[in-house]
Amino acid sequence: MAERSYDEMHRRSVEDPEGFWGQEAEKLHWYKRWDKVLDDSRSPFFRWFPGGETNLCYNAVDRHALGPRGDRPAILWESPETGRRSVLTFRELLSQVNRFAAVLKRRGVGKGDRVIVYLPMVPEALVAVLACARIGAIHSVVFAGFSFESLADRINDCTPKALVCADGSTRKGKVISLKKIVDRALDAAQAKVPHVIVLDRKVDPWTPVPGRDHTWDEEMAAVGEAVVEPERMKSSDPSYILYTSGTTAKPKGVVRDTGGYMVALHASMDHIYGCTKDDVYWSTSDIGWVVGHSYIIYGPLLYGIPTLVFEGTPDSPNPGIWWEVIERSRVSVVFSAPTAMRMLRKFPLDFVHGKDLSSLRHVFLAGEPLDEPTYHWVKETLKKPVVDHYWQTESGWPMITNHMGFAPLPFKPGSPTREAMGWSLDVVDEKGNPVPAGTRGFLAGHPPLPPGTLQTIWGSDERYLESYWSFFKRQGKDLYLCGDYAIKDEDGYFWLLGRADEVINVAGHRMGTREVEEVISAHPQVAEVSAIGVDDEVKGQEIAAFVVLKKGVEESEALKKEIVALIRDRIGPIATPKILNIVPQLPKTRSGKVMRRVLRALCEEKALGDLSTIEDGSSVEEIKKALEEMGQTGK
Ligand code: AMP
Repeated sequence: MAERSYDEMHRRSVEDPEGFWGQEAEKLHWYKRWDKVLDDSRSPFFRWFPGGETNLCYNAVDRHALGPRGDRPAILWESPETGRRSVLTFRELLSQVNRFAAVLKRRGVGKGDRVIVYLPMVPEALVAVLACARIGAIHSVVFAGFSFESLADRINDCTPKALVCADGSTRKGKVISLKKIVDRALDAAQAKVPHVIVLDRKVDPWTPVPGRDHTWDEEMAAVGEAVVEPERMKSSDPSYILYTSGTTAKPKGVVRDTGGYMVALHASMDHIYGCTKDDVYWSTSDIGWVVGHSYIIYGPLLYGIPTLVFEGTPDSPNPGIWWEVIERSRVSVVFSAPTAMRMLRKFPLDFVHGKDLSSLRHVFLAGEPLDEPTYHWVKETLKKPVVDHYWQTESGWPMITNHMGFAPLPFKPGSPTREAMGWSLDVVDEKGNPVPAGTRGFLAGHPPLPPGTLQTIWGSDERYLESYWSFFKRQGKDLYLCGDYAIKDEDGYFWLLGRADEVINVAGHRMGTREVEEVISAHPQVAEVSAIGVDDEVKGQEIAAFVVLKKGVEESEALKKEIVALIRDRIGPIATPKILNIVPQLPKTRSGKVMRRVLRALCEEKALGDLSTIEDGSSVEEIKKALEEMGQTGK
């Protein structure tokens, strides 16, 4: 068969979105067919498949469990943390999901209610999520590494009827007391959560709160072999809320629909990831992130292939563990992050050599810029095509990528290639006008946004408009603001140049500088703070925080430690700053704005640029001195 052409497919997807996506939707199960493929009458609120009724869980589980693939594996669990491994077939998964759906119903959770899932990388996490989808409850998975404060914020924002957690988990053997974090979060939150279901792994002792806390095992035993009919969901009904960082301190709850998301993910499995029905898919992310939602849970299962769920780190018990897992489970497609590759690159090649990686066809990477040396290292070490692709929590699936289901376009290391199906992107200036090829500008998307992209921000349509559309709307343009700087070259390839807003990307995890600043300024001895992202060899970016103390407060190591502890406690260990400097003042413009670019240039020992608007030039010298004393410049 002649290889299919990307250009032809992409042209059709943007010129005839209804024809293109309608055809993709036919491949899935609908209780009721859509009246129309796209309703953009309320742009930029797009509704895909209005009038259609479906169920995500039915499509991801029942459809396969009840057919000839029922006894094939759905979940392959590998847990170096516990030394355990297990396999769940589609039929077994269906039974578990049915039972947990019954548990949720029995506890009063129904269609449209929210459920927070705060679980480590265990099969039960997928069961809980799919059970929500089955009964039409809206899940909100919170990364089980986030602190009690972050969890409390999310509880207050989405007011869940139930919360599912584990007693604890481990990271390289170190216990994380999840249930204790939940207890603190529930004490701190204004919103009351009536039911907490605890998966007791016997990792960390915990005390149940009578009436509120129940164990997973007892709940499952109480419902027996229950069968719960999947709820008929409108295509535009929300399936989940996933919080992500933006320019304000308060995380945004990205709302995903049901039908559009399902169709887009299913189509991405063969069009983008080049999967066949005999493949095994492994996304090394965590279910707490968007990649985990789309490619640990929904994508592979909608497509009917096994998803590998890995509880562990890339270097434990040894840095060969990932290659060992690929060999053992005959993984066909791996999806990981540049950070992980940069970390593995530090170890001797002996850990890779000798492993049978013949099952592996492609390595996909996303989450942060993929630097050229890492690209070449992965390609040469694994001897497989390396596909860098770009997307965001908001998009739900790739926006810029090479499509491995089509004749691949030539790879250009450092660029994630061209637009994904359905996406029409441009690089524009501040006024929303396209800039010439090779010129830096804002990455922006033309409406309609394809299926599966965010519907709104939970509880605030205004915030959705303000965060993504009003920037160019003020210039009279209808364009989606992606938040990144980019260059489009002569061949139409995109080159990502980092965030254009105050968002930091640490090892692929997004954080708002405002979030970090707000936490630090809550310290009683802090007068002012500015946090920025600085380049880091392994993690891509790290946080650097500059703190001005209140008058009369003495600088001390103990105080610095307190501030670091505060950040770890309020946001989580991923937000631990690489640089924390106490300075007499921050560099500011005469209008009082902190000159972040000056802080960044100082940390990275780059040219300071135009300083004509600075209020007090001595601030620069003071910061320079502080960085030198700490040996903390970015080099
Ligand atoms: P998140 O919403 O946490 O997935 O973060 C999305 C952000 O990560 C994007 O806006 C980019 O800044 C960055 N990002 C994701 N993938 C890539 C990539 N392949 N190349 C460069 N930056 C990326």
